[in-house]
Amino acid sequence: MIVNPGIVEYLNSLNRDEHELLDAIEQEARENHVPIVKPETKDLLKFLVLMQKPKRILEVGAAVGFSALYMNQYQDAEGTIVTIERNEKRIQKAKENFKRAKKEESITLLEGDAVSILKELEGTFDFIFVDAAKGQYIHFLEDVLRLLKQGGMLISDNVLQDGDIAKSRYAIERRDRTIHKRMRDYLYTIKNHKELETTILPVGDGVALSLKVGD
Ligand code: SAH
Ligand code: MG
Repeated sequence: MIVNPGIVEYLNSLNRDEHELLDAIEQEARENHVPIVKPETKDLLKFLVLMQKPKRILEVGAAVGFSALYMNQYQDAEGTIVTIERNEKRIQKAKENFKRAKKEESITLLEGDAVSILKELEGTFDFIFVDAAKGQYIHFLEDVLRLLKQGGMLISDNVLQDGDIAKSRYAIERRDRTIHKRMRDYLYTIKNHKELETTILPVGDGVALSLKVGD
């Protein structure tokens, strides 16, 4: 944990249950160790969706569909989400969950590897939530920026690697060094990109908020 656990626990205790089915899907996912958004990240996502009012959301990393269902709940009725997942078991579960929530019309699941799916995607999105393999964020970026409309928001989850991101590469286990370097490159890039204004928050496992401001 990046933030004092006692503080996180207290802040999370202020969150209320919101929606019976979503709460059940969330609990099921946590019990099965599916790495869904942390409660404090979820709370931030809700706030950003309500603030930004995105009609079209793109998500990279659906897992079992929890965060997509959660974000959709706070979009206007006509709001839609396109979400990408490559893990077969999770794809099946996500489909089942979208059906349970009667959201098959609003949420589209694209099956396969996001690197290639993003290249093929067209149109623009008002809000993009990147929550997939951390070592690939840097590879998604070019397409993500092409797909993000002016004034749109890019949210990148799990960017602080439990605080390891701030450590020297030599303090990182050898096998984790590639991911460490790629995430540092990613954060440097989104912080310094001429089309983006980015702030990085130590919420959950670290969340970067980037606004597409043009060049
Ligand atoms: N957003 C979800 C959690 C996603 S967990 C939620 O909060 O409810 C990350 C998911 O991204 C995993 O299920 C993993 O299979 C998927 N993933 C990772 N890299 C991917 C890639 N390159 N293409 C497609 N899916 C990917
Ligand atoms: Mg995440």
